[in-house]
Amino acid sequence: MPIDCLFCKIVAGEIPVEFVYESDTVVAFRDINPQAPTHVLVIPREHISTINDLSVEDEVLVGSLYTAAREIAVAEGIADAGYRTVMNCNEGAGQSVFHIHLHVLGGRPMNWPPG
Ligand code: 5GP
Ligand code: ZN
Repeated sequence: MPIDCLFCKIVAGEIPVEFVYESDTVVAFRDINPQAPTHVLVIPREHISTINDLSVEDEVLVGSLYTAAREIAVAEGIADAGYRTVMNCNEGAGQSVFHIHLHVLGGRPMNWPPG
C-alpha cells in the first residue's frame, strides 16, 4: 500500500467507512462532499494512481467498477432516471485523490457539458 493513500486506508479499514457495495476486487462508499443526492465512489481494492497507470491486465478490474456502478444505481433507485459516471485523470481534470475511483452521481438532472 502506498504510504498516505487515503483510499488504500479506507480499503484496509484503517479509516472507518460504510461500504454501500463490496466485492473481491472493488468497494464503494458515499462521497464525503456529495455533489448530487446520490454520490458514491467505486474504487478498486488494488492501488492504481490514475487512468494513465492502467495496463491491459486491468481491463477486467476496470469493468468491475462499472458493473458495481450498475448495481449501486439500481439499489439507489436512480438507474431508470439516469445517472453520471465520471473518472477524473490528473489535476487538470479535477482529480484530488490519486487512487482511481469512479464517481456515480444521480438523483438530480445532470447537465452537459460538465464543467
Ligand atoms: P476526485 O476529485 O479525485 O475526482 O474525487 C475525490 C473525491 O473524494 C471527492 O469528491 C471528495 O469529496 C472525496 N473524498 C475526499 N476525501 C474523502 C474521505 O475521506 N471520505 C470520503 N467518503 N470521500 C472523500
Ligand atoms: Zn491507494
